[in-house]
Amino acid sequence: MFYPEPVSKLIEGFMKLPGIGPKTASRLAFHVLSMKEDDVLDLAKALVNAKRQLHYCSVCNNITDLDPCQICRDKSRDGSIICVVQEPKDLVAMERTREFSGYYHVLHGAISPMDGIGPEDIHIPGLLKRLGDEQVKELILATNPNIEGEATAMYISRLVKPTGIRVTRIAHGLPVGGDLEYADEVTLTKALEGRREL
Ligand SMILES: [Zn+2]
Repeated sequence: MFYPEPVSKLIEGFMKLPGIGPKTASRLAFHVLSMKEDDVLDLAKALVNAKRQLHYCSVCNNITDLDPCQICRDKSRDGSIICVVQEPKDLVAMERTREFSGYYHVLHGAISPMDGIGPEDIHIPGLLKRLGDEQVKELILATNPNIEGEATAMYISRLVKPTGIRVTRIAHGLPVGGDLEYADEVTLTKALEGRREL
């Protein structure tokens, strides 16, 4: 299709976003064209401001407009526990549970030899430095339950355990509201391994 250049530029821009193919991109582009100019300006400003005002926390690597971030600034939290997650959105998911009151460390990825991502490419050195500087008693590894997440958890565990800090891994199990018969073998095996006393 031949669009005027501003339209094809807009479509190209949308296609750089994850999960957006050419069809969705052109639908979004034409939607933008039909929007009120004020709304388009607000959207454009929100995009630019998000990029300009947000950066990574120098302590935990969470996305923040303040440094250190709101969580790292919060002195009422439990400084003896750090929960390690892969992405800022995982931190948000953990916070939503309201069950965790310690601090976080965001790795921004996971170890993946297949993709050439090693421990130095994600924020593991910074984590080790924090463990040396702060009074941490427990490290909760909440990386994803897939090959990369497991490899990352194993790697960190091997490094940290000798220091005497307690290293725990979040349990993998069955989704609440799910049916046992539909669970795959790996999930069921993990759920069985992670069983606890009632
Ligand atoms: Zn922080």
